[in-house]
Amino acid sequence: MSQVILELKDIKKSFGDKSNRVEVLHGINLSIKKGELVAIIGPSGSGKSTLMNIIGCLDTPTEGSYLVGGNNTFNLKSDDLATLRRDFFGFIFQRYHLLGHLNAQENVQVPAVYACEDKEIRSERSKQLLSRLGLEEKLLNRPNQLSGGQQQRVSIARALMNGGQIILADEPTGALDSKSGAEVMKILTELNAQGHTVILVTHDPKIAAHAHRVITIMDGQIQSDVENKDIPDATDKVIEEQNGKLNQKLNSMQAFFDRFSEAYVMALRAMVSNRLRTLLTMLGIIIGIMSVVSVVALARGASENVMSRISSMGTNTITVMPGLNMGDMRSDKFRTLNEMDLEALKGMPFVDSASPTVTTSGHVQNGNKDASASIYGVSDDYFRVNGMHIEQGRKFTSFETINRPQICVIDYNTKKELFPHTSAVGKHILVNGRPITVVGVLKDEQVGFRPNDQLCVYVPYSTLMCRVIKQRYLSSITVRIKDGFSTAVAQAQMEKLLKTRHGRKDFFMRSSDTIMKTISDTTGTFTVLISSIAVISLIVGGIGVMNIMLVSVTERTREIGIRMAVGARQADIMTQFLIESVTVCIVGGLLGILLSVSLGSLLKVLMPMIPLSFSMASVVAAVVTSSAIGVIFGYMPARSAARLNPIDALARE
Ligand code: ADP
Ligand code: MG
Repeated sequence: MSQVILELKDIKKSFGDKSNRVEVLHGINLSIKKGELVAIIGPSGSGKSTLMNIIGCLDTPTEGSYLVGGNNTFNLKSDDLATLRRDFFGFIFQRYHLLGHLNAQENVQVPAVYACEDKEIRSERSKQLLSRLGLEEKLLNRPNQLSGGQQQRVSIARALMNGGQIILADEPTGALDSKSGAEVMKILTELNAQGHTVILVTHDPKIAAHAHRVITIMDGQIQSDVENKDIPDATDKVIEEQNGKLNQKLNSMQAFFDRFSEAYVMALRAMVSNRLRTLLTMLGIIIGIMSVVSVVALARGASENVMSRISSMGTNTITVMPGLNMGDMRSDKFRTLNEMDLEALKGMPFVDSASPTVTTSGHVQNGNKDASASIYGVSDDYFRVNGMHIEQGRKFTSFETINRPQICVIDYNTKKELFPHTSAVGKHILVNGRPITVVGVLKDEQVGFRPNDQLCVYVPYSTLMCRVIKQRYLSSITVRIKDGFSTAVAQAQMEKLLKTRHGRKDFFMRSSDTIMKTISDTTGTFTVLISSIAVISLIVGGIGVMNIMLVSVTERTREIGIRMAVGARQADIMTQFLIESVTVCIVGGLLGILLSVSLGSLLKVLMPMIPLSFSMASVVAAVVTSSAIGVIFGYMPARSAARLNPIDALARE
């Protein structure tokens, strides 16, 4: 007496939600013994496939209990059910359900991949199985290069790959011509004779005649259950022998890598077989990464350019200003910086030259034209220290600087405003109501960080202090340090000197070094700002990846269903889709970097003024970002793929 391996107790199955619920199976009681060849027949729509899906753990019953090998399947999680499908059942579908982008041998191997079978054993075994079914010539053919009967034989080989102790065939001959159908039936009968338990659905009585037992289903209920023949002595031997071979599983580490590399190959194939879609997906990432890398390179290039210009000017200057720090609100209360300080500073050994500045705002007038202007009281060195050049006329002499003459140098803006059509040199203008002669006009050029629409009038500082604003203190003193002296040491000594003279520290200093630091901080901020804009474009690219992946999941639902039916767990499906999205993003990222660098070198040749400076850090960051995008934006579609119910996925075409 053979032992019962499958037992269904009062199985009911309903579809639909509350409002339109339909019960398809109304209490099925059935037990299947080891080694049986069972045919299930019945009219279309009677519930045969529904029953088969429940038997094969592709679907779960609404009510009742189902025991496989004495264990109730009720409490099993989806991954346990996947393991059961993988190791215990072999499915043969009416429409074969082979994976179109894999060849016959690879299709047969899929269940073994999920069972972590060793690669060589797997390949050897798939070859054997296919040869046994007469397909030794067709190992490398894809499903669309095989006839229906051949495809069905491939799917039988796949069902046997992990042992296939119980073979479930839902109308295996339904799509075949009678000759191929007869061949398939012959194979199933032989397999049964070797000890496999076979359950097959058919509506062909001739085929049912092969079976030991014929179960008729009508409207979701068993109508008759007839035993035709005796079950032959199940040759358990064969299966056990096979299972012994199958137990040579890999250790977990190897299994992990094997599974990973398998998933990788599958992902690559899926990408290659959908080239256009893959390329479009990548495009978002390529553009995103390219813009990030280029923008960072541009910002770095610009900043390096500015820095090198500043240092090439060689201005080794220190400016002393009253107050405690930059932007001190009370700085105009400190009126201690004076000409004596200037003379004292000039006397220091490392000082090349020193120029005081007295600033005030004022009013300039030429006839009926007038304007507001900044008025600077400066020395003759001022123009040299600040890199300003005279266009017309001359600058002051050092004698004039201290001799309070009523002369001035005006900048280009002032000239334009007061003397739009005539020459200004030698003319008189009124500065705060006082007549002053213009001796020079400056070139139209950007000076430091002054706004370039400001009007500036420069008079000797002695003139400004005695004749225009009657002020005894200086607004600032700029000292130029002799070449070869350290700015820091000079600054410390100047600080000591002024502190002694004033009795307290009521001034502060800014050296060209600190200005340079400010500039580099500013360009840093600028880089961050621009980069964040570029990051937004990356995110947009990532959303593109997610979109395409979602479409891909929808498109490949049937593939997912097949993989699940032959034993893929949720994690396997998830890994495959994640690998796909990460690969798309990384390849896209690398292409983006490549494009950006080659564009950079092209630009260097065509437009050498545009400075570009690529940094390794930004390239590394780009690669890391693009893989992160792959994981983050691939996760959602991957999860939705993994959560699909296998039978729903299979049903979709
Ligand atoms: P058979 O295989 O015997 O032809 P099925 O088991 O495929 O029949 O279907 C039995 C009944 O259950 C049919 O009326 C069918 O419409 C219904 N049915 C099957 N699957 C679903 C489903 N997923 N949702 C709703 N109804 C379904
Ligand atoms: Mg059916």
